[in-house]
Amino acid sequence: MKNNTANLYIISAPSGAGKTTLCRAVLDRLKDITYSVSCTTRSPRRGEHDGVDYNFIPIEDFKKGIETGRWVEWAEVYGNYYGTSAEFLDNCLASGNDILLDIDVQGAMQITERYPDSITIFILPPSLDILRSRLESRGTDSEQSIVKRLVAVEKEMEKKGLYRHVIINDKLSNAISELIEIIESYSHRC
Ligand code: 5GP
Repeated sequence: MKNNTANLYIISAPSGAGKTTLCRAVLDRLKDITYSVSCTTRSPRRGEHDGVDYNFIPIEDFKKGIETGRWVEWAEVYGNYYGTSAEFLDNCLASGNDILLDIDVQGAMQITERYPDSITIFILPPSLDILRSRLESRGTDSEQSIVKRLVAVEKEMEKKGLYRHVIINDKLSNAISELIEIIESYSHRC
């Protein structure tokens, strides 16, 4: 049985920990969850689509959004801005839809301050070496961007204690099952 208050699932992870793949798997299997498409000022990567992976917007629009309160949370991550639309989140919650947010630690803390019942999940890579090789083989980031991301990783990993759940993405199929199990344990709670 599904409870009648919407759940907010927040997933954070260092870049390359496999979060995007995990989120896609969850959204494929659990049809009742709405993915929160963030806005960002970074350029689309190969294969990314505007309005699907992100809403890609100019930096001027993003900054204007900060002034006008457009973002329920926002952060500067690896030199780009990312934010979640307050209107989008409020509409989803009002219609009772569970929401999945793929956001960084700074954003997760802002959301949990406003919505303390949020279910926070941190995804860890098996090791830093594996993380580096995943980022390199992804082939979508420059060496400079990879270095920037790796420097940020250790700091991000220190924050894992702030999350309710931690999943180590060692074997993808296990991590997917674990994530789905966590989400289902809340959506079946009355
Ligand atoms: P990427 O550029 O690799 O897609 O994402 C970089 C980081 O930004 C990831 O940690 C991702 O979770 C985070 N991110 C994506 N969207 C948002 C958002 O709306 N708000 C915040 N705070 N972080 C976001």
